[in-house]
Amino acid sequence: MAKKIVLLVIPLVIVALLVGSMFIGVFPLNAPPSSSNPPPNTSPTDVVSPDGVTLQVVFLDVGQADCVLLKTDNYAMLIDAGNVGQDKLVLNYLIDYGVTTLDYLVATHPHADHIGSMASVVKAMDRIGMVMMPDKSHTIKAFENLINAIEEKDIPVNIPHPGDVFTLGNANVQVIAPNSAVYNDLNDYSIVLRVEFGNTVFLFTGDADTKSENEQLTNGLTLKADVLKVGHHGSRTSSIQKYLNAVAPSYAVISCGADNTYGHPHKEAMTRLTGTGAAIYRTDEHGTIIFVTDGETITVTVTHGFGSIPLLGTGSSELAYIGNKNSKVFHLQSCSFLPQEQNRVYFNSRQEAIDAGYTPCNTCKP
Ligand SMILES: [Zn+2]
Ligand SMILES: [Zn+2]
Repeated sequence: MAKKIVLLVIPLVIVALLVGSMFIGVFPLNAPPSSSNPPPNTSPTDVVSPDGVTLQVVFLDVGQADCVLLKTDNYAMLIDAGNVGQDKLVLNYLIDYGVTTLDYLVATHPHADHIGSMASVVKAMDRIGMVMMPDKSHTIKAFENLINAIEEKDIPVNIPHPGDVFTLGNANVQVIAPNSAVYNDLNDYSIVLRVEFGNTVFLFTGDADTKSENEQLTNGLTLKADVLKVGHHGSRTSSIQKYLNAVAPSYAVISCGADNTYGHPHKEAMTRLTGTGAAIYRTDEHGTIIFVTDGETITVTVTHGFGSIPLLGTGSSELAYIGNKNSKVFHLQSCSFLPQEQNRVYFNSRQEAIDAGYTPCNTCKP
């Protein structure tokens, strides 16, 4: 477990320098329990382990969907890849973070909000070492596209089992779920991964619901983690009390869209999560959320309002604007008047939105 926990918010001036006029704002958060150790770092890249290697875990803001990037040394893993129609958004994130190859691409389960834009990722990467997915197909077009893209590039596919271990650079990754062959609920097929880097631990749960959580509690594998990717976007059918007790996170991250139609995160789940004492981060409120660890210390950086921030000084150029198909108005990702997922259209630049006949929102003034 991490020795100490430090909250970090990028100083406004640094962000402004990094992203120029794209800067919207950086908000201090509910700080985690105070540490007796003073914050030793001022930027994510300042966290350096004795061998100089860090692990970055980036919860990309993809609205009501999941997309998590793990980078360490020259290794990278992507867990899920956003929703249908977010191809450009996800690919731009990968460009911004300097990712052109993936050692592992994980499709936690074949729901559209997890694999919707994954075929585009497969096509765009120079190399993908392996795709991991559960032994479960789906009839949606995005799944068919993904399978076709994987076959086209002849990428090995692995169906992981609980207890399987593999490495991502210096990180050790263990498969925790799924534990059964057949489920009624597609969400319970979610691949759950526990990633150890030095003494710090991250747990990625996809949309695993109650049945899967109960199985994880009894399969003999350790769940304890510093950072929990909250199951199923904060649904009340995940994050059962016993599960949270076992994980005992210091940080809980919810990937969800503002005013999503599911009402995620549900009040009941939030109550249980708050009860753990963990600092809670939400992509709908905090934008992309970046964790950096040297194996001892964990720092968190939030980027409210835009999804494009260079982590390691790699070139950042464009960010996605979100248009409303019905009103033909376009917004910044930070806007509180974003359309519902099914009415969204994404643009790479302001000019692209205007060229498409969209007008800027009066509130966020993109
Ligand atoms: Zn989902
Ligand atoms: Zn799902």
